[in-house]
Amino acid sequence: MVEGLYFHIPFCSSKCPYCDFVSFVSDPSEEYLELLKLELNLYQELDFNLKTIYFGGGTPSLVPTKLWKKFFRSLDLKGVQEITIECNPEDYEEKDFQELLSLGVNRLSFGVQSFLEKNLKFLGRKHSPKRSLQVIEQTHRSGFKNISIDIIYGLPNQSLKDLKEEINIIKDLPITHLSAYLLTPYEDTLFGELWKKGNLELPSDEKVEEMFLYLSEELNSMGFDHYEISNFAKEGYECKHNLLYWTHREFLGLGVSAWSFVNKRRFGNYRNIQAYKKAVLKGIRPVEREEVLEGEDLIKDYLFVALRTKYGISKQMLKFIPESLREFFVEEGKRLRLSKKGWLLMNEIWWGLTKQLSTFPHQTNGDIIFKL
Ligand code: SF4
Repeated sequence: MVEGLYFHIPFCSSKCPYCDFVSFVSDPSEEYLELLKLELNLYQELDFNLKTIYFGGGTPSLVPTKLWKKFFRSLDLKGVQEITIECNPEDYEEKDFQELLSLGVNRLSFGVQSFLEKNLKFLGRKHSPKRSLQVIEQTHRSGFKNISIDIIYGLPNQSLKDLKEEINIIKDLPITHLSAYLLTPYEDTLFGELWKKGNLELPSDEKVEEMFLYLSEELNSMGFDHYEISNFAKEGYECKHNLLYWTHREFLGLGVSAWSFVNKRRFGNYRNIQAYKKAVLKGIRPVEREEVLEGEDLIKDYLFVALRTKYGISKQMLKFIPESLREFFVEEGKRLRLSKKGWLLMNEIWWGLTKQLSTFPHQTNGDIIFKL
């Protein structure tokens, strides 16, 4: 049963030096939105019980609201609980937010990245800290109750004092959700290139740990629950859409480079926009890569997403966890989750667990593993 729809809007006004998402420097076209609708029609035979819709990118806030109006007319929103649009702070004005709200959009996620001018410059962002504060205020005034922001930490030379300054600003904002991402020099990005050549000095592991734990504690004291490695929410405002990803529920991704998870298959669309367009216009699903997840591969995949969250895995799994890794787990009710220290070593722990997969009970009782 497909519970979530993701639409990828791959257009940006410029390319940020750290970004590895598929995006092109161009204005969004009405034609592209039409292709998304056509692509959705290619999946009519699937069972849908839609709860969430997410527009990510790229920069969905480059789409004029009059185009959204037309697009939303083609969607059946019955039963949908959460509709998110990712926005850059500089794009929409108050009247746009009011229109989005009237269309049924009830969650906005702003790519704030930092409230310090020097950090925004380094990250190649076009907005100012003042604009971010203004836009959050405008959205709140327009009636949005669910407002999320992204921030990036672990910048070269960033001090804990800098981070504290940001958190002090966040304290007074009417936001319900925050994603804090560690700056990562991905391949095929400008920062990735600089890092490979030794021209980008990132903070030490100790400093990253200090920042991560500081964020976790400080945001917690402000009423934000650290419910996933990089995500914090006020009670009841966890991102329902992303929780589908992290709990192995089915979702359909539409648009250039979008990923889906349906019937234990992960499949990804063409990253090339022309190839995507050609396939959709021919009435062919624009899938470029796919992987059928069975047996151990399915469990590996599940562990990777589940361990990211505070919900973790079933406590019945304890006996299958090697002694050497147990110190990184904590029991909470019937669940077994990674501690904060465990989250910092998530990849290593996951790798250690996958070596034990043959001992896991997936043959006899898959529920032990997959049931939340
Ligand atoms: S970070 Fe956002 S705005 Fe910047 S290039 Fe990537 S998708 Fe576009």
